[in-house]
Amino acid sequence: MEVVRSIADVRSRVQGWRAGGERVSLVPTMGALHDGHLSLVRRAAADAPRTAASIFVNPTQFAPHEDFSTYPRTEERDLALLEAAGVDLVFAPPVGEIYPDGHRTQIEVRELGKILEGEFRPHFFIGVATIVTKLFNMVGPSSAVFGEKDYQQLCIIRTFVRDLDIPVDVIAGQTIREEDGLAMSSRNAYLTPDERAVAPVLHAEMTKCAKAVADGADPEGASAVAAQAIVAAGFDSVDYVAVRDAETLAAPDPARPRRVLVAARIGRTRLIDNMAV
Ligand code: AMP
Repeated sequence: MEVVRSIADVRSRVQGWRAGGERVSLVPTMGALHDGHLSLVRRAAADAPRTAASIFVNPTQFAPHEDFSTYPRTEERDLALLEAAGVDLVFAPPVGEIYPDGHRTQIEVRELGKILEGEFRPHFFIGVATIVTKLFNMVGPSSAVFGEKDYQQLCIIRTFVRDLDIPVDVIAGQTIREEDGLAMSSRNAYLTPDERAVAPVLHAEMTKCAKAVADGADPEGASAVAAQAIVAAGFDSVDYVAVRDAETLAAPDPARPRRVLVAARIGRTRLIDNMAV
């Protein structure tokens, strides 16, 4: 496994493979890797003979009050995990390589970027869409794998890839969970033992909500029940529990696939999750 830190190096390695007729699949990450990330690497390897991962804590997707400076950075361990998983190439650039002085351009997916997560983190999807577009242009992969864990992010990436005619196949990877249902997340490391004990209720209530809606319950009523139960179990607040169209994230239509999406806060940690109805 080779680790490169410059755009020129990552581009030349990937171009070399692709010139030889090999597909290359990219797994973008912010590091602090867990089994969820590694499952995306396996998904990438199923798609392409060459796999690349990026490790970059992207400053533009954090608001000033958020956790950019304290986000866990565990590069040595991450590289060992990626090597053991069989990754061929890791791109781990410094911030100055990605955002040199004078960087001005942003990618915004209108509407889809303003609802749900976008309402609570207005800067977030602009930062994500911009860095993912840049990664696609820097690395030049055939495909890229993203987790369903960040479902709205996946919808947004699919949208701008289509709208901007970016020649990358976007592949979704299933959410990997702890045994008690909690979705794996680098931010789970922030949870105190007491908070960790409460956290699985997010998945439990989301599952009940999805089942109730599948059985014909009113989506708004079922969402409100779940939100109340999440707070009653010990979360400090719920940003949203919402049932939406699985493709457009607009109001749900019972004749089409639907998705439950949740975001809630406990202590200093904000957790998100989602599942199909
Ligand atoms: P992050 O490092 O948190 O930015 O995540 C990098 C990629 O891993 C994104 O595509 C996430 O959706 C994905 N991911 C994060 N957590 C999980 C999980 N529990 N299961 C599957 N994929 C995940």
